[in-house]
Amino acid sequence: MKPFTVRLNFHADLNFFLGSRVGRGVIERTLTEKTSVKDVIESCGVPHPEVDLILLNRQPIDFAYTVAGDVEIEVFPVGAGPPQIKEKRLQYSGDLRFIADGHLGKLTRNLRLLGFDVAYDRQADDHQLLNVMERENRALLTRDRRLLMHAIVRHGYYPRSQNADEQTIEVIRRFELFESIAPFTRCLRCNERLREVAKTEVIEKLEPLTKIYYEQFRRCTGCGQIYWTGSHFEKLQKRIEIIQSRLMGKRDV
Ligand SMILES: [Zn+2]
Repeated sequence: MKPFTVRLNFHADLNFFLGSRVGRGVIERTLTEKTSVKDVIESCGVPHPEVDLILLNRQPIDFAYTVAGDVEIEVFPVGAGPPQIKEKRLQYSGDLRFIADGHLGKLTRNLRLLGFDVAYDRQADDHQLLNVMERENRALLTRDRRLLMHAIVRHGYYPRSQNADEQTIEVIRRFELFESIAPFTRCLRCNERLREVAKTEVIEKLEPLTKIYYEQFRRCTGCGQIYWTGSHFEKLQKRIEIIQSRLMGKRDV
C-alpha cells in the first residue's frame, strides 16, 4: 500500500499525553496499512478513554473508523470541542462506579469518603482489575497508560496530578459528580454502604470513652465497621470541606 499521512490535532489538555516536544498538539503519522483511528491516536500516547470526540471533515467518527489515505483529524477530550456536536460523543459522565488500580489507595479513600463506589484491591493484578471492571461495568482509574489503552476499557481516566486531593477534584470534574457527593455514606475500608444504627445495637463494641461521649453511629453493611463523629471524623470533615471549596471556587470562574 502506498504510504499516506494522518495529521492529528489534539485539543485542550490532551497535550498532557504528547510530551513536551510536540508543539501545539499537532502530530503527523505516516502509515503503510489501513489502521483504526483508535490505534493511530494511541500510537501518539493518548489513551482512548481520554477521547470524547473525533472529527474528520467536521463529522464525528468513532474509534473503529479505519483510515486508509491522507486525512486530518481533530481529537477532543471530555468537555471540549464544538458544543453543538452532541452525537457520537465517546465518553459518558454522571453517576457511575469506579475501579482504581493498586497505586491509587488515597484517591480511593477520598472518593469513598465522598460517597462514591470505588472497587479497590491493592493486590490485584492487571488481569483481575480488568475482569472486575468489565463484569461490574466500572470506569477505570489508573496512571498506567498501557492499561488504560487496553481494548476492553470503555471508560476511564488518568489522574494528571500525583496528589490524592488534586486527583479527587480531577475525577469529580471529569465525570461531573459534583451533585452526587454524599459524605459519610460509604465504608472507607470495604466500599459498602453505611447504615445508621442505634447506640444500643453497637454499645458492646465501643471503647469506654466513645460510649460516654457519642450518640450517633453508623455501621458498614459489609464488614461491620462502626463509624461515629469522633476526632477522626473532624479531620475527614475538614478534608471534605477543602475539596468542596476548591470545586466551588473553580466552578464560579
Ligand atoms: Zn465496610
